[in-house]
Amino acid sequence: MPLLVMKFGGTSVADLARIKNAAKKVQREVERGYDVIVIVSAMSGETNRLVGYVEGTSKLYDAREYDAVVASGENVTAGLMALRLQEMGIPARSWQGWQVPIQTTAQHGSARFVDIPRANIDAKFAEGFKVAVVAGFQGLSPEGRITTLGRGGSDTTAVAFAAAFGAERCDIYTDVDGVYTTDPRVSSKARKLDKIAFEEMLELASLGAKVLQTRSVELAMRYKVRLRVLSSFEDTDETSGTLVCDEEEIMESKVVSGVAFSREEAKITLFTIEDRPGVASAIFGPLADAGVNVDMIVQNISEKDYDDAHPGAVTDMTFSCPINQVDRAKKAMEDAKAAGKIKYDELIIDTDVAKVSVVGIGMRSHTGVAARMFEALSKENVNIKVISTSEIKISVLIDRKYMELAVQALHDVFELDKA
Ligand code: ASP
Ligand code: MG
Repeated sequence: MPLLVMKFGGTSVADLARIKNAAKKVQREVERGYDVIVIVSAMSGETNRLVGYVEGTSKLYDAREYDAVVASGENVTAGLMALRLQEMGIPARSWQGWQVPIQTTAQHGSARFVDIPRANIDAKFAEGFKVAVVAGFQGLSPEGRITTLGRGGSDTTAVAFAAAFGAERCDIYTDVDGVYTTDPRVSSKARKLDKIAFEEMLELASLGAKVLQTRSVELAMRYKVRLRVLSSFEDTDETSGTLVCDEEEIMESKVVSGVAFSREEAKITLFTIEDRPGVASAIFGPLADAGVNVDMIVQNISEKDYDDAHPGAVTDMTFSCPINQVDRAKKAMEDAKAAGKIKYDELIIDTDVAKVSVVGIGMRSHTGVAARMFEALSKENVNIKVISTSEIKISVLIDRKYMELAVQALHDVFELDKA
């Protein structure tokens, strides 16, 4: 029997009417002859509420109990979805992570998949069940405790199941009708893409386009799971939404496919650090240990290069990280300084920044993208604070108040409104 994975995000299962609407989409695929694995998120707002309960109880909470609490939102929707399908005459059974059992690592709050054994679910399909409804976002640690995968983790659950069960496709139903060239709320000229390559989607996802959890795209790319992002609120068919696929499935792509942005950035500068071997490691080691996700890094050149003649050379180091990790980063640096592991005169935090990036696999074979990007920003008088690049992306850190302007200017200059 061909198999599909269908994932419904929080807004798509936000209340009983929406669960019913989602169930109808499942019914249609069952009628087409598919066995279906449905992955559900918690009702929208529910996970935040549960996280609030945990934080309201314990400031430095035990991560195992955090997982025990926040995983419960998905259990509710899995059971309700199975019930709704049964009401429609479809043999369906719900599964919590431990019942599958979805095996993960023991990193509570950000666990990773180890294995998804098929036997239990396959046995149910063999009995005549048509749908397995699986609670997203959760799994089971080697110690037998409930784990969660990190916020937005149900996308990753869906892709992992599609890979494990050899699904024909993994359909991600959400509250938008696909992946856009940029956020339509920021540029009215944003255009929905029919197809996008895994690598581009990976960059867009990690750069702040919130349609898919980054890890789900990584996993899809690794296992070549064809992913489709589509709306659960519209009538959809085989051609709806955006297909995230191998670049070989895309005939010709533009140099730039999308403009991504993130408001949740902060810039931290350490002034007058020593310029000698080992300093970067002494800074970024403690940051990594503190769980800070450092993104862009700039080290200035010192006036005098480090060598035997200038052992006292100094420089400045700037890096960016998510805004909600600033306190952790600051503490890690102050502790390292107090322990004598690093020296700096001053630590300055700038939380009024945003990151804007252009992404496209076409950049591999075209030059001049950076020049066009910087020219467009200079025409708008936007000052660039930090730049970073990869093979298929260029990112700049700018003042947050110019973010919308920058996104619109870049969308225009790369003509993303035209197919
Ligand atoms: N319910 C979880 C969250 O809100 C997981 C998900 O929806 O993907 O992060
Ligand atoms: Mg989501």
